[in-house]
Amino acid sequence: MGVAVDAAARGFSVALVEAHDFGKGTSSRSTKLVHGGVRYLEQGNISLVMSALKERGLLRQNAPHLVHDLAFVVPNYSWWEAPFYGIGLKLYDLLAGKYGFGASKLLNRQETLERLPGLEPEGLLGGVVYYDGQFDDARLLIHLAMTAADHGAALVNYCPATGFLRDADGYVNGVTARDEETREELKLPARVVVNATGVFTDQVRRLDDPDAEPLMVTSQGIHLVFDRTFLKGDTALMVPRTSDGRVLFVIPWHGHAVAGTTDTPVEGPSLEPRPMAEEVEFILETAGRYLTRPPGRKDVLATFAGLRPLVKGEGKTSALSRDHVIHVDKSGLVSITGGKWTTYRHMAEDCVDHAITLGRLPDMPCATKNLHIHGYMENAAELGSLEVYGTDAEAIRGLTADPVLDTRLHPALPYTAAEAVWAVREEMARTVEDVLARRMRALFLNAKAAMVMAEPVANLLAAELGRDEHWAAAQVKIFNALAEQYRVG
Ligand SMILES: Cc1cc2nc3c(=O)[nH]c(=O)nc-3n(C[C@H](O)[C@H](O)[C@H](O)COP(=O)(O)OP(=O)(O)OC[C@H]3O[C@@H](n4cnc5c(N)ncnc54)[C@H](O)[C@@H]3O)c2cc1C
Repeated sequence: MGVAVDAAARGFSVALVEAHDFGKGTSSRSTKLVHGGVRYLEQGNISLVMSALKERGLLRQNAPHLVHDLAFVVPNYSWWEAPFYGIGLKLYDLLAGKYGFGASKLLNRQETLERLPGLEPEGLLGGVVYYDGQFDDARLLIHLAMTAADHGAALVNYCPATGFLRDADGYVNGVTARDEETREELKLPARVVVNATGVFTDQVRRLDDPDAEPLMVTSQGIHLVFDRTFLKGDTALMVPRTSDGRVLFVIPWHGHAVAGTTDTPVEGPSLEPRPMAEEVEFILETAGRYLTRPPGRKDVLATFAGLRPLVKGEGKTSALSRDHVIHVDKSGLVSITGGKWTTYRHMAEDCVDHAITLGRLPDMPCATKNLHIHGYMENAAELGSLEVYGTDAEAIRGLTADPVLDTRLHPALPYTAAEAVWAVREEMARTVEDVLARRMRALFLNAKAAMVMAEPVANLLAAELGRDEHWAAAQVKIFNALAEQYRVG
């Protein structure tokens, strides 16, 4: 999606085909941080941290309705932690330079507990507070799709690329794709084809060359979602070293507390990865050690898993670089993969620069450094639960003039019928899942509540899309079967 925005903003003619819905893959399943990556600093990857910190600043500048600052506290239970993490986080501030989000600071025990009232006080010596960014990943993706469309790109969901077109010399000069709704086969000629399919990168490369050497390895990360009573206040908890040598976050997000993540090597790609029992136990156990009220399985409102598209290398998946890679196959197919959500803009710029050379395209300069993302609005916080829509909030409020649309879909979540209708009319939602998982984040926040919302949403969608009650009933069934996987039994 970043490549589509970049290329369209440079003035190129762009088509994007997505096999499922926009954001169905990893991009809706992240920890929701726009960050330089304190962990990568510890690994000594200074250039990745600097580039990510710069991108963090640009993203907040270009999408203030979607990215905001978040304070993180690293609690200290040993004497050496305050100087160690204090100095490390000062370096983090320094590397951010003019893109800084706020200076880190040592906290005494009292200040630490004031910021994190749910933190285990026994043995606590103090803490270090630092600042990073937070966002709604699937919502940003939808707004990037709208930004690309605003610049003339054609985007289609539920339309997998099935193969490639070739010129007389065997070079790729387009894709074939199948519209899953009409079953129509499409031929899309192109000067350059970019494969930006995350953990599916090798699968798509093999449509071009069945013997292509794999580039990717996959590792899974899961999150657990609880209600906010487990993490009172507006500050996130950062556990700098878990028993498997990683970091664990417990962060406030959309009125809930999200804890994660894990790093479990898995075989091959999947669109709907499932959290493993050991991963759930690991997060419950680790978070429980730091919270006065340790969460149990019954407290989990939702769990979601995502797959990291990692580029092959030596050692454990947690030690593999998060730098991005641009790979050009013999046929001229360009694949872009690796990287982080935070660095998507820079990755896209780099990729389109390569595409220009390869496709002998006019040398148009990148235009995304200061490009406002769809819905751009300062002070969007005053929009309340509609904040993430930015300037679109006004039109959504307009829909609520119809009393049928001015209804909340579930008492535990802020979403209204008007947002479901907006998602279909303006944001290309086609199914109940598209609405409840990615246009709203109900499935990721509270799977049981999302199941209750499925029927009213299916009826609204059926009316908008001209479908009958059988379609609506089938949608509810499909969605509820999926939502069961987001619950911890
Ligand atoms: C657990 C976890 C936590 C993370 N947390 C963070 C974080 O806090 N901050 C951060 O910056 N980064 C984070 N990341 C990294 C970030 O989420 C990923 O780097 C990023 O989302 C990858 O995006 P992508 O577009 O490459 O892949 P995806 O989002 O997976 O997109 C690939 C898309 O390709 C589509 N596709 C597949 N095959 C085809 C085909 N044949 N035709 C058309 N389309 C196809 C898929 O349907 C999919 O939608 C995290 C990752 C994980 C796993």
